[in-house]
Formats: sequence, structure tokens, C-alpha cells
Amino acid sequence: MSGIDALPPLRDVITTHGLSAKKSLGQNFLLDLNLTAKIARQAGDLSGSDVLEVGPGPGGLTRGLLAEGARKVLAVEKDARCLPALAEIAAAYPGRLEVINADALSLDPLAHLTPPIRIVANLPYNVGTELLVRWLTPPEWPPVWSSLTLMFQREVAERIVARPGSKAYGRLAILAQWRCEARIVMQLPPEAFTPPPKVSSSVVHLTALETPKFEADQKVLERVVAAAFNQRRKMLRAALKGLAPDIEDRLLAAGLKPTARAEEIPLEGFCALARELKRS
Ligand code: SAM
Repeated sequence: MSGIDALPPLRDVITTHGLSAKKSLGQNFLLDLNLTAKIARQAGDLSGSDVLEVGPGPGGLTRGLLAEGARKVLAVEKDARCLPALAEIAAAYPGRLEVINADALSLDPLAHLTPPIRIVANLPYNVGTELLVRWLTPPEWPPVWSSLTLMFQREVAERIVARPGSKAYGRLAILAQWRCEARIVMQLPPEAFTPPPKVSSSVVHLTALETPKFEADQKVLERVVAAAFNQRRKMLRAALKGLAPDIEDRLLAAGLKPTARAEEIPLEGFCALARELKRS
């Protein structure tokens, strides 16, 4: 037996290593290896890619990534209790799994990997959203990663792929869709996890585009979008008045109605306004 076949079932791993789920670390584990292989496949062809996995836990998804052919997996896990289970996986796939015991929010492990790099994670939702925003706003574009395949609670996933005119449309949609193609690729009921969380989950797959869909300065666009959606019920001329004294004229110059609300403005409109505000 080699690779995944040499490893014990995940339920046994949890018992052997005493991995009772900790709420404080958002631990809801995936124990079905068919399901984790399916999630790994959503990340695309892994055979020529390095993968950063954040929050591997007992390693169900890690096994999926390795079995699906990832060249190398770098796994960052905060909970030291998971390390022995991950070491067993590393032994079954010699030279292909490296584990770092750290808080993923406090380090940038991408420098350890060779492009093409794919990022895959089933993380606690608050950590996932914070990391997503960081990955979407690197100092340079295109980023070092080529795709992100991330589990979120369904409501957050819907915010990432939302279109104008919907309640879910906001800062996350603009940030994600400005320079990526973003799709929900899987829906998972609470029972897919052990223990089951209160809500359903979705896997979102984002592919980095070489260039943004519409030109804009990242910092200016972020400021515009934050201001517009912080007061999403207000008309743009009121919500954005702190950005320029002549905001009405700027909105008109960008082809936007000063009386419109943020929710109605497509990505293209926010980018046009960011370009207009950058001019002075
Ligand atoms: N990937 C595993 C799976 O699918 O079964 C575990 C998923 S569980 C939802 C989230 C994992 O992220 C846990 O193993 C937890 O310890 C880890 N984690 C939580 N916060 C983290 C952080 N800031 N940095 C790295 N790992 C973290």
C-alpha cells in the first residue's frame, strides 16, 4: 500500500490523536475522503502546482490535494494537536507535504512556494474572509497565486459572487470580481462536517485574471467602495461627500447618477469613479 491507502480512516485519526473539535478554532472537520477529493478537484489541475492549504486540521482535504496530484502542499495549521496526524500524511507522500505550525494571519507562506500556486482552505469563516481580502489586495497584480478555492458559510460565498441590485452585493463582490473570475462550485449541508456547524457552506473558486476587468487604482477603488457601501442606503452624493468637495460633478463625469445608491452601481461604474477621483 502506498499514499492515501496506507493511511487510517479520518475517524480513527481523530480518536488516536485526541482531536476533539475546538469551537475557538472554528473546527468543523471534513471526514469523507470522497468529498475532500471532490473539493480538491475544484481547485483545477493540481499536477503541476504547489498548493498552500490553510487550516488542514486532521488532514482530510490535505489527503485529497495530495491524492489529486499536487506537486507540493504547504499546510499552515494553528493547532499543534493536529501535527502528528499531518506527519503521518507527510510520511505517506514523501517530500510532498510540508507543515508549518502557525497562525496563518501572522505569516506570509507564499514565499515558500513555486508558481503556479493554488490556495485551498476550509477555514473558520472570520479568518477566511480576512485572508481572502489580503489575497485579493496584494502589492502587485497579477498575484503570485493563480487560484483560490475556499470554503465559506453560504451567506459569505453569496457576497463574493453577488451581482449589482442584490442585498449581498458590496465590498467583497467588488474586490473579488474586479480582478478575478469568482464562482460558487459546491454547496455543502451542515451534516458534511463533524461536528456540523449551524449553517450551510459553499466552496468558492476564484481565478486571478492577468489584468483587472476595468482600470482603476486599487487604493482609490477601495476607498470609494468602502465609503459607498458603509452607507449603502444613502444616495452616492451623500455617502461619498467626504471623498471630494465636488463629488456630484465627479459622479456625473464618471457617468453615474448622484442620486443612485451603491447597490445599483456595477463594477465598471466604481472603476470609472475611481479613475475620475484619481485625476486630481
Ligand atoms: N481543513 C480541515 C478539514 O476540512 O477537515 C479542517 C477545517 S476546520 C473548519 C478549520 C481549521 O483551521 C482547524 O484545523 C483550525 O485549527 C485551523 N485554524 C483556525 N484558525 C487558524 C489560523 N488562524 N491559522 C491557521 N489555522 C487555523
